[in-house]
Amino acid sequence: MKGSLLYEGKAKKVYYVDGKPEQLILSYKNDATAFNGKKKDQFAGKGRLNNLITARIFEHLHQQHIPSHFLKALNDTEQIVQKTTIVPLEVVVRNIAAGSLTRRLAIPEKTVLNPPLIELFYKNDELDDPLINDDHAKRLADVTEHDLDHIKILALKINEILKRLFRQADLELVDFKMEFGRLADGTIVLADEISPDTCRLWDVTTGEKMDKDVFREDIGDLIETYETILQRLEENKCVK
Ligand code: ADP
Ligand code: UDP
Repeated sequence: MKGSLLYEGKAKKVYYVDGKPEQLILSYKNDATAFNGKKKDQFAGKGRLNNLITARIFEHLHQQHIPSHFLKALNDTEQIVQKTTIVPLEVVVRNIAAGSLTRRLAIPEKTVLNPPLIELFYKNDELDDPLINDDHAKRLADVTEHDLDHIKILALKINEILKRLFRQADLELVDFKMEFGRLADGTIVLADEISPDTCRLWDVTTGEKMDKDVFREDIGDLIETYETILQRLEENKCVK
């Protein structure tokens, strides 16, 4: 069923599906990279955790009527999705100041951002994913004003749904990155992954960092941390 390799990225391999040109298989790797690939390591079990966490999150988003590429988890490390043409934007929503925002604009870490802040980055490794504005996006990412408005409305809706989901797991959704893609008929849907690799999550009770910052800053056990996220999301499966 798994066809040839289409693409190998930093965190996943992407395969065609034999006989189903409109689908892809995303295979989650154990590699961890940070600072645009400058810091690298491998963690046995990471692929499984990000695959299962992403599947759990996309299933929840589907229940809440968010259109996405997700079809189903195939096994521990692989999921089947609808093939899209990825819009080359990293759409970041921030609820609390952290990471590059604090460095770029000297906004103190932990400043509450209400309403949430949306940032667009141009998905381009050679340029180090630069921050861009809407005009740049229209020029570089083949999107119209209407597409951008639609992407931002979806991004804010997803943020509200995930803030609630993570709160039930005693986690604060500080910020996260989304990618969107176009299906064959042009519809824009949420794509790629949402996992502790692509979110900042702080423990509501202790304030502890429970995401890829553990790896970026060498402050804890990545696998133990991601396992805790999966367990907490599973425990709250019945909660709406
Ligand atoms: P990177 O390319 O940044 O190293 P990954 O290792 O996660 O990232 O690679 C996965 C690739 O698959 C990304 O480029 C992502 O944009 C792409 N992708 C994710 N979902 C889909 C989809 N539904 N259709 C096409 N491409 C996708
Ligand atoms: N992010 C991501 N992929 C990227 C860049 C950022 O998933 O290529 C996520 C990151 O994990 C965080 C959010 O987007 O949850 C905002 O990241 P930021 O701009 O603060 O960059 P960082 O300081 O994390 O490099």
